[in-house]
Amino acid sequence: MNEKMLWQYARLVIGVGINVQKGQPVMVNCPVECAEFGRLLAKAAFEAGAKDVYMNWRDDFISREHWLHADDSVFDAAPVWDVLMRNELAKEGVGCISVSATDPENLKGVDPDRLRRWGAAAGRDYKDFSKKMMANVLPWCVVSVPIPSWAKKVFPGVPAEEAMEKLWDAIFKTVRITEDGDAVEAWRGHCANIEGKAKAMTGFDFEELHYENSLGTDLYVKMPENNVWLAGGDICRTGVKFVANMPTEEVFSAPLKTGVNGVLYASKPLVLHGNIVDGIKLTFKDGRIVDIHADTNEETLRTEVELDEGSHYLGEIALVPYDSPISNSGILFFNTLFDENASCHFAFGEAYPSCVKGGEELSSEELLEKGLNAESSTHVDFMVGTSDLTITGRTRDGRTVKVFENGNFAI
Ligand code: ZN
Ligand code: ZN
Repeated sequence: MNEKMLWQYARLVIGVGINVQKGQPVMVNCPVECAEFGRLLAKAAFEAGAKDVYMNWRDDFISREHWLHADDSVFDAAPVWDVLMRNELAKEGVGCISVSATDPENLKGVDPDRLRRWGAAAGRDYKDFSKKMMANVLPWCVVSVPIPSWAKKVFPGVPAEEAMEKLWDAIFKTVRITEDGDAVEAWRGHCANIEGKAKAMTGFDFEELHYENSLGTDLYVKMPENNVWLAGGDICRTGVKFVANMPTEEVFSAPLKTGVNGVLYASKPLVLHGNIVDGIKLTFKDGRIVDIHADTNEETLRTEVELDEGSHYLGEIALVPYDSPISNSGILFFNTLFDENASCHFAFGEAYPSCVKGGEELSSEELLEKGLNAESSTHVDFMVGTSDLTITGRTRDGRTVKVFENGNFAI
């Protein structure tokens, strides 16, 4: 790993990712194994004028011990102090960074009932804070750097050090950091490019999209009226632009909650709560997931889909060309931040309010009335794109438009 590039990365996350403003507090969720990057994030945040930086250090080893051995009662409620800390920082407009790096199978063998109960408890207790993130009241950014246990899964059979080097290289490429390039400039160009695609999708005013491929996917997805497609950057309540995922390649919106029918096959494994779920097949009737199948860890998937009422419905529809940088790397990252940006995907669970015109100003009830899946404690992206995916759209004024052909944009 190249130190100059790492510093450039930290500055990119602070300057473009959450776009820290003078006097703003910053919170960083960071694995202890990524301490060097965490420190650079804090340094860059202070340089940008952050009021203070609050580190939430994470550790896979301690996390696994917690899930296996903590008192059973702790899985039914989030710690009050932690909820208070987040809500108080939210009042000050905190910028929130999460460094996503974990062993994809870290929670293998953990009691699924604990995962289920914690999912419900966290969804309930952190609701105020997560709603603020979903509605772009606060700027947030998910990024990643390698850790050895994860690198080993991505590059099996390669010596540990080499696997780490390879994962560093791959990640720097996906976030457009080069030895002597200007990552901030590169990101401006990239965002402008995908934001143009999103604008075009919004302009079509699609009423329905039909997905088909040789995996067996045959799915009709209705879109709500006044649907908005988004990409690249978001604008938070204070008017500051931020980028919620680095990397990001997707052009996304939200489907009509009750308008999804047919069969959908996932095209990549999904890492969910420290378990790898593979071979996913979901069947939809009037938006609701009525049949759940996975070849491995079906129980993990079922637990999440059945978490609450909203988790039974889709909340996101996202387009990523098969021929795009992360996809072309051919690497299966076992980390949704990367895998979802290499593939068309959907998410079950809560939709982003900004996916309908003026949605950020609406309450959950109003968003539900507009047809969005506006109330769920979860939001799980899963990958469905293939090299032979076709998406055919029907616009509200009755035109038929090929949106995707052979896995790539046809518009
Ligand atoms: Zn997405
Ligand atoms: Zn998503």
